[in-house]
This record gives sequence, structure tokens and C-alpha cells, in this order.
Amino acid sequence: MNHPDCLLAEISGFGRVYDCGDCGNIHVTVGPVSLTLTPDAYMQLVDLVNTSAANFETWLQESQSSSARNPQPEEGFHMNHDPEPDQMNRRWIDE
Ligand SMILES: [Zn+2]
Repeated sequence: MNHPDCLLAEISGFGRVYDCGDCGNIHVTVGPVSLTLTPDAYMQLVDLVNTSAANFETWLQESQSSSARNPQPEEGFHMNHDPEPDQMNRRWIDE
């Protein structure tokens, strides 16, 4: 493997992004996967990942706050719920 001419970012044991200085493309390596992207395509990938990260964060916050806001539905409703069948029965009995 050739040494990167310009290492843009690296997370040890995970992956790295670099410009080899040869082909004019950006190389994105994550684990065993290696992508070679034109600078334009690389910026689109960055945009894609950024947008998904922001949406993922929003989704996490929403799912956390909604489960904190109503951990359980209110119980009181079930006690005198749906009295109609009982009233109909009484009306039948009274008649
Ligand atoms: Zn290259």
C-alpha cells in the first residue's frame, strides 16, 4: 500500500481519508472498504454523512424526549370506560 501524500483525517483502527497526490481523487478507507471519489463526489459524501448525522441526532432526541414525556398512558380512563352497554342493559331490564 502506498503511503498517502496528504492525509486528511484518520481514526486509528477505523479508517482514513487521504489524497494520494497522484490521481487527483480522494480516497476514503473504512475497515476493508476503500472508496476512490472525485473531489465533487467526496463533498457529496460529506454532505450525505453530515445530513444523516444531523437527522440521526434529531431522531435520537425525539425518541428520548417522547418516551420521557409519556412513559405510560394515563390509567384513570379505564375505570369508567364505555358505559353504554350497561345503560342499554338497564333500559332493557326497566322495560
Ligand atoms: Zn489517488
